[in-house]
Parts: sequence; structure tokens; C-alpha cells
Amino acid sequence: MSKKCQLCTIEKATLKRPKTGQAICKSCFFEVFELEIHNTIVSNSLFKPGQRVAIGASGGKDSTVLAYVMKLLNDRYNYGLELVLLSVDEGISGYRDDSLETVKRNQIQYDLPLKIVSYKELYEWSMDDIVKEVGLKNNCTFCGVFRRQALDRGATMLDVDHIVTGHNADDIAETVLMNSNTSGDVARLQRCTEIVTSGESGLCRSKPFKYTYEKEIVMYAYFKELDYFSTECIYSPNAYRGHARVFLKDLEFIRPSTILDIIHSGETFQLKSSIKLPPQKTCERCGYISSNLICKACVLLEGLNRGLPQLGIGHTNRIRKIHGDTPENLSQIQHFSTIQKDEAMLADLASRHLKLSDTTKPPLSAGKMPPSW
Ligand SMILES: [Zn+2]
Ligand SMILES: [Zn+2]
Repeated sequence: MSKKCQLCTIEKATLKRPKTGQAICKSCFFEVFELEIHNTIVSNSLFKPGQRVAIGASGGKDSTVLAYVMKLLNDRYNYGLELVLLSVDEGISGYRDDSLETVKRNQIQYDLPLKIVSYKELYEWSMDDIVKEVGLKNNCTFCGVFRRQALDRGATMLDVDHIVTGHNADDIAETVLMNSNTSGDVARLQRCTEIVTSGESGLCRSKPFKYTYEKEIVMYAYFKELDYFSTECIYSPNAYRGHARVFLKDLEFIRPSTILDIIHSGETFQLKSSIKLPPQKTCERCGYISSNLICKACVLLEGLNRGLPQLGIGHTNRIRKIHGDTPENLSQIQHFSTIQKDEAMLADLASRHLKLSDTTKPPLSAGKMPPSW
């Protein structure tokens, strides 16, 4: 006789849940997976009704599942959010152009508006251009710094209140491991376990998958037959996360709760520490939030434009001493305060919102977990 699902005790158990090891059925898996994310959203009061929320969408498994689940929960629990997909085109031929095609299909599948901002339009450099200039060694530094700003700039064009990203529990646990054994940087450790951070002019960012295991995201995408792009970036073979990731997978194999334990230890550390983060200023060139006079993106861009790509990577002061200060008339990132709104998309969002507000549904509340969960 085949085993029954440990949650509903009616259906046949068809999978072993990675997070708990329970043998459960497919529909119970969907239920607990979605409910956990809903409860994370509600217990952390991530959103307020009427907010416009951009889903950082890359076409990969995490952000595709995030877009699907955000749409589902927004409808099911009546969050009252205006959802929009926001993608960054880094300009990586043979990789990002294909994954953007996936996002364009998701846009139709989930009936969500899509905005794409590109490195080329924002910085006048695509990642293909940057790699030609700097090679494969530090290109991920450029990409990471540029992507963060690109998302915030896209969000500003759409008057977005909140950006959600697909960072999952594994990503956060890895970041905790990396920050706790390398630099001992308390401020960074604090920031990486926070579920929500506020940035540019009140724009919030959050990670609804903070407690969601990567294996479960893959499983969910597989059983729901979601359309996502699974190729690794061609410019970051085994990225810098390599060692921490392998270590974490080994720990997870021995004890699945390790991932949550590491996140919780990062959180506990955060509570006990009274260390203040450096005061936030804005970059004097581009107006982006920065703890220095000039933000990292502006320094990196200056390096590219001057043919000194090491600028901002490590020896900025020494390089400035040798090569002199910033020449005038150097191409710069547009100032944040002058970013143009995307009027066409704002009109589209407004008309969708009118349609949405016709419906009446019960108010938002935390979901009840199945009894044995
Ligand atoms: Zn079941
Ligand atoms: Zn700047």
C-alpha cells in the first residue's frame, strides 16, 4: 500500500518536501509553499493596499516563480497591489536576450505589464562592451552595481512604491556565511538578513522568498510547468558564490534546517548589535543613494569612460593620483531627480487599476496552516 500524504492524510504522498522531509501530495505542497510566502508577507507587513509593486524579473526560476506567486496571492488574498514586471537588459548577447524573451512570454501568461531598462540606455555601456574593456575578472562587480541602480531607475520611471526580488533562503544564508567569515562587516550582515530595506526616496525593496528554499522553488516551477530560463550567465561561470554555495549544500544534505538556522543566526546577531549604519547621503553626481560623496556606479562608469577600469575596483585613490582628477565633459549617469516618467506605461497601469478596483473581495489576513504543518 502506498503512503498517504502526511498533511491531508487522504491523497497519495508523491514527493518529499525539501524543507521538512515530510512525504506529501502535490496539492498540499502547493498549498504550504504559497501559504508560507503569504504569511511572510503579512507578518512582516511588506505591502499596503494600493501600492504599486515592481517584480524584478530576469526570466530565471526565482523571479518567474515570484511573479506567478505574487499575482496569485494578490488575487487570492486581495492585497490590492498594482503589479508590474521590471527587467534589466544588461546587454549580454546569447544570454540576456534569450531570457528577456522568457519574461515577455511571462508578461502575457500572467497578464502583467512589463518595463525593460537597459545598461546601454542608462550608462551607454552594455555588459558585452564592459567585458571587452575589463575582461572576465571583475565584470560581475560592474554588473551587480549597475543592476541595482537600473532597477531603482526603472521603478522611478513607473512611480513604483516597492520592488520585490527573487532572493531565496539559500541566497540569504550564503550571504550570511560570506559576510560572517570574510570581512566581519556587521553592517552588511545586518542588511543582508533584513527582509525589507528602504532606499531611494522611500522606495522599498523586499525579499518575499526570504524563507523559501531554492529546491522548493525549483520543485514548484516544475510541477506548475512554469516557463523559465535556466541557463547560467555566460560571464559568471560558477560566480563568486562558489565555495559558500557548495558548503551550504553539504550542510543542507546533512540537516535541511541548516539554511533557516543560518538565516536566524544572522537575524539574532542583528538584534543584539547596536551598531548604527553609516548615514545615507546621495551621490553628488547622479543623486543616487550612497554612503560616499560619489556612488560606486559613478566611479565605475568614470573608470570605463577614461579607459581606467580599475577605478572603483580597489585602488581608486592611487589611480587618481597617477592619472589626475575627473576630466570635465565626461559622460555621466543621468541625475535621479531628472528621470522622465514613462507616461505610456503609467497610463496603461492606471487603466488596469480601474478594472481591478471593480471587484470586491474579503480583506487581507494571515492564512491558516494545515494542522500538522
Ligand atoms: Zn496532501
Ligand atoms: Zn552616482
